[in-house]
Amino acid sequence: MRRVSIGIAVSWFWLCGSALAEELPAVLMIATGGTIAAVADGQGAYVSGELSPEVLVTAVPALAEMARLETQQLVSIGSQDMTPVIWLQLAKAIYQARQSEPDRAIVITHGTDTLEETAFFLDQLFPTGAPIVLTGAARPATVPGADGPANLLDAVRVALSADSRQRGVLAVKAGQIHAARQVSKRRAEGVAGFESPNGGPLGRISGGQVRFFRAPERLTQADLEPDLIHELPAVAIVHVHAGASSELLSVLPDLGYKAVVLAGVGNGNASAGMLATLGNLREKGLAVVRSSRSAAGWVSANVEIDDVALGFVAAADLPPAKARILLMLLLAFDVEFDRYQALFNQTRPIDWPQLAEP
Ligand code: ASP
Repeated sequence: MRRVSIGIAVSWFWLCGSALAEELPAVLMIATGGTIAAVADGQGAYVSGELSPEVLVTAVPALAEMARLETQQLVSIGSQDMTPVIWLQLAKAIYQARQSEPDRAIVITHGTDTLEETAFFLDQLFPTGAPIVLTGAARPATVPGADGPANLLDAVRVALSADSRQRGVLAVKAGQIHAARQVSKRRAEGVAGFESPNGGPLGRISGGQVRFFRAPERLTQADLEPDLIHELPAVAIVHVHAGASSELLSVLPDLGYKAVVLAGVGNGNASAGMLATLGNLREKGLAVVRSSRSAAGWVSANVEIDDVALGFVAAADLPPAKARILLMLLLAFDVEFDRYQALFNQTRPIDWPQLAEP
């Protein structure tokens, strides 16, 4: 008799539990690999992306009480192996998920090395709607003090917060919330490696609460259908330093590059010789964007360099890797070159669906 009543009690509890689970908000977790999913060998070495998203979720029991998490493994890579082709696959997965469940928030686990690039790319395509939050970890999942579980929990908290809407794609790490346009991995290692050099983080997760420091932007653009992008053209980044040679720039057309971003010194600057070579590239039809190797700041047009005469574009607040992404999209959509500078200066998301109209 006792066994029966325990059985009834357990079933009742299970029923209530599943009814409660049904009421929890849905979150889609898309895993791409990274150190957050790494297993360490005990000697300091590890391979990124070894653990499945289910294992990562199991390590954070609190998640089961917060959300109905569906998991999807897109790729299992270190983010040093991220490519534009995978960005498009990820964008398609997100687009399809948002078509079927528009209100479902999305959390993406990602290596930290190129997380900022993926975040910025997705921010261009999905500026509004249910939150899209990227997170990663500096330490493998199996070492003492692994930061992945806390970052995953924080990312889900941010994804579920109504305050996270209208802020574009977000990156969460070490208790901080960053905007995709701003976030940058500023340290080669360490749990607190992410910063937003131009303006600081958007908010924090403290005491389990999501707190933003600023009001959300009013973002009205719709999702961009990723199928509209057939290919992201090849764009090179060339780093400037004292005594840098122009040789690397000269070979870009033969290698099939359609454009070049300069990781310039200071205000996107380069030697007279390099600038002359860039001028030649521009005459051959390559787009030239001047960004800066400096950690922060705004690269302005026509300061020490006559951009109007040379046909160059200044990258504004975009560091080289993000300037490259914007340039790839402008080329993919065949945007008239005259509009580039204004679109680089525009810190609000670009209305790509409108630009894409013939
Ligand atoms: N190399 C790793 C990656 O980006 C580093 C990390 O995840 O922190 O995938």
